[in-house]
Amino acid sequence: MTLLAIDDISKNFGKHQALCDISLAIESGEFVSLLGPSGCGKTTLLRLIAGFLRADRGTISIAGEDVTGLPPHRRPLNTVFQNYALFPHLTVADNVAYGPRRTGAGKAEASRRAQEALDLVGLGEFGDRYPRQMSGGQQQRVALARAIVNRPKLLLLDEPLSALDLQLRKRMQIELKQLQEKIGIAFVFVTHDQEEAMAMSDRIAVMNAGRIEQVGTGAEIYRRPATRFVAEFIGEASLLPVQRTGNGALTIVPAVEASGRSVAVLRPEHAQIFAGQADASTSCNLLSMEGHVETVASIGGVTNIYVRALGHLVHARRLGLVESGLREGQKVVLGIDPQNLHLLEGPQP
Ligand code: ATP
Repeated sequence: MTLLAIDDISKNFGKHQALCDISLAIESGEFVSLLGPSGCGKTTLLRLIAGFLRADRGTISIAGEDVTGLPPHRRPLNTVFQNYALFPHLTVADNVAYGPRRTGAGKAEASRRAQEALDLVGLGEFGDRYPRQMSGGQQQRVALARAIVNRPKLLLLDEPLSALDLQLRKRMQIELKQLQEKIGIAFVFVTHDQEEAMAMSDRIAVMNAGRIEQVGTGAEIYRRPATRFVAEFIGEASLLPVQRTGNGALTIVPAVEASGRSVAVLRPEHAQIFAGQADASTSCNLLSMEGHVETVASIGGVTNIYVRALGHLVHARRLGLVESGLREGQKVVLGIDPQNLHLLEGPQP
């Protein structure tokens, strides 16, 4: 069932168009990330859903009710901010019980629900502490407990993990996803970190310059990016101009003739490197291009190899440390299985 329906939303700040014709539907219990570079409009969209901002055009409905004109507290949702926004003078338990108290629960009922929410985030023993006595990760969990205690239908999270160090952040990503599955509340999660979005989301809405360029699962947007921007923003890719020969087969066009062509998206794990044409032709049906190795760089468990071919710099990746025998300047043949190419048809910008 559609829980959140965003229809044709636009928002300007003065002359600057922050959001343009945004439509997005989110199901009950779904985890959807808004992913995009800084300034693309993620926070603005979240603030519109929350009701902190008004759209110039378009409507927002939650569970079938048009909430476009409703103030934040009348919407069946809650928001978790990056800076936690806990009350410093209240204990952890009172911070969490604040929500139920404000919506009319008695003291005993409010503290029972606060305890239940704290148990859910693994802080059942910490109710008597004050926020300043908690680590950053614990404070973030308190903020979560406070946001879910009233069991909203929808939780909005604005880069909630960005203040945490990398290790804790990775652990919290897993915990947060598990919690979300357990409580079944739909999450709209803002991040500019594609790995985070990939690791947590059922679907990702990729945003660029105030528009949604594609919505899909992590695998869909990685394997079949809808636009050049998505192809380059999600993972790494070499974008190769292509044309079809008389028999319909794809060939790669030299860089100098790239203008106005369709473009094939090649992920680095799909670029094979052969020592010579003879080796390349042992695998049939490969598109092959002669070139030379420009750079070989090992980073931990993977080696990135950049090959210059037909004027393109093609990125290949191998698991493990330096590929034996590959050195800079060496002549090689690149082999690509056309089935691993994703085509963006028509002249690309
Ligand atoms: P970040 O990842 O850096 O937080 P974002 O994708 O969340 O970026 P927004 O904060 O939504 O981006 O901003 C979108 C655009 O709208 C930006 O160009 C920003 O400068 C502009 N903007 C946001 N809020 C306002 C405002 N209150 N007044 C004027 N311009 C604004």
